[in-house]
Amino acid sequence: MAYDGFDLSGKVAVVTGGNGGIGLGFARAVAAAGADVSIWGTNADKNAAAEAELQAINPSASAIKCDVSDEAAVEASMASVIERYGRLDACFPNAGIGTQNGKPFFEHSNEDWFSVMDVNLNGVFYTLRAATRQMVKQGEGGTLVMTSSGTAIQGAPKGQAYAATKGAMVSMTLALATEMARYKITANAIIPGWVETAMTEGAFSREKFVNAVIPRIPMRRWGTPEDFGAIAVYLMSDSSRWHTGDIIKIDGGFSIF
Ligand code: NAP
Repeated sequence: MAYDGFDLSGKVAVVTGGNGGIGLGFARAVAAAGADVSIWGTNADKNAAAEAELQAINPSASAIKCDVSDEAAVEASMASVIERYGRLDACFPNAGIGTQNGKPFFEHSNEDWFSVMDVNLNGVFYTLRAATRQMVKQGEGGTLVMTSSGTAIQGAPKGQAYAATKGAMVSMTLALATEMARYKITANAIIPGWVETAMTEGAFSREKFVNAVIPRIPMRRWGTPEDFGAIAVYLMSDSSRWHTGDIIKIDGGFSIF
């Protein structure tokens, strides 16, 4: 008989930034494990393509056009998820943008700084606040999974704004894990290594970058969105209900070599 500890039937997940990359990797896997999934993103074409792909896995999947840096849009999107599915069991506030400018730190404008904060930090705050409010109201526990980054714990030249938001994912995870435990809500963060997505397209197209980084990855390849499916299913499942406050690296060994 198959092990049923990872069956997510009857559970509902929101994955922000779920229309591509790592978020779509989360969404595909939890949908295949039986969960109803709502993916949020700003690009209507990407939303439609990902929605169709996910519906082929689980017909209940849906996409919402939502800019997570817009507080009102996040509140409205969460309300529409609850109206459609009736509940919320897991939230993956994964939407993020990279450092925009490539300039030295002392030339960063306020706009450079705040544009990253708006999405990667404020957007996560709006999303998690709405999610935890609903989970506490339901009284049946829940799952929060932050997407941090190696930049939270390793140096990121010219990327201080991005790094600061990803360090904040670690801090928020620890703070939420302690406060939310009383509601049986777990909070964990994932630190992905270098993953082949739209965000890394530019870097991975530069030979100098590839030649410098691949030799530092013991598994000798970039990560793929599929490498993040199993952890999403595990963390959303009842099997991990005592696993909280953890910072989980999935990086092909990059951080230890
Ligand atoms: P990606 O393919 O570019 O995914 C980013 C996602 O965020 C897209 O779905 C995008 O959808 C969404 N998004 C961006 N701005 C948004 C906004 N204002 N509101 C709502 N959604 C928004 O890149 P990715 O690598 O999968 O990134 C996912 C997460 O992983 C990010 O938090 C990133 O920082 C983190 N990460 C990535 C790597 C890596 O090597 N790739 C490593 C460490 C951490 P739209 O385009 O439709 O808005």
